[in-house]
Amino acid sequence: MRSAVILLGAPGSGKGTQARLLKACLGVPHLSTGDMLRERIGRVEAGDVAQVVRSGALVSDDVVNRMVDRRLEEPDARDGFVLDGYPRTMAQAEHLAGRLEAAGSAPVVIYLLLDYNVLISRLSGRRHCPCCGALYNVNDAPPSRPGYCDLDGCVLATREDDTEPVIRRRLEAYEKQTRPLVGFFRERGWLCEIDAGDLRPEALFEKVCGAIRDKSSRKQ
Ligand code: ADP
Repeated sequence: MRSAVILLGAPGSGKGTQARLLKACLGVPHLSTGDMLRERIGRVEAGDVAQVVRSGALVSDDVVNRMVDRRLEEPDARDGFVLDGYPRTMAQAEHLAGRLEAAGSAPVVIYLLLDYNVLISRLSGRRHCPCCGALYNVNDAPPSRPGYCDLDGCVLATREDDTEPVIRRRLEAYEKQTRPLVGFFRERGWLCEIDAGDLRPEALFEKVCGAIRDKSSRKQ
């Protein structure tokens, strides 16, 4: 497999933005379990899943592992992928590692580090364009006309789970269930830690690409 990249980091650490940039640069699909779950909630009767996502807790490992397994079987993911928001629990990490190791593949895990208060400010200020998907932040990357997308003029929206109490619950879930994965990936020699504080997305992307190049050359 050419490029298996896993983006690890708290909600708001910039995984989605970096994943989109990597997709364009590496030519591999961007698999966001959050997007996949939101799409599923919008498409089918997924009452239980919708409730869990709205509350800020994590969807069951079984549901998410099956969803990712199916997606990884699709032809466009054979040569590589960028995972954003998965794995998020130890059970998911073990499931994915088993799958990758069986295929003889070692991913690069990019771990984005960011201060807790910056995460809160980023998540509570986050807005997106429901028409084209462009992302803004009212605190540090506002649109030129407040409330409207610069690209197509659509009215900007706030994600349902980007409200203060739900944001705190998501960050708690991250601390308890996801942060332990740092040790799991470090033990396997797959982890690259990057300080994402004070960096614009483009500057962070340079660092991410450098880390991937560096890890990949050491594997050869
Ligand atoms: P963020 O990283 O900003 O929290 P996501 O879009 O990745 O946003 O996830 C939104 C929600 O979707 C999570 O709070 C959780 O309820 C659910 N979710 C996403 N990925 C997973 C996963 N790997 N395992 C369990 N639940 C998940």
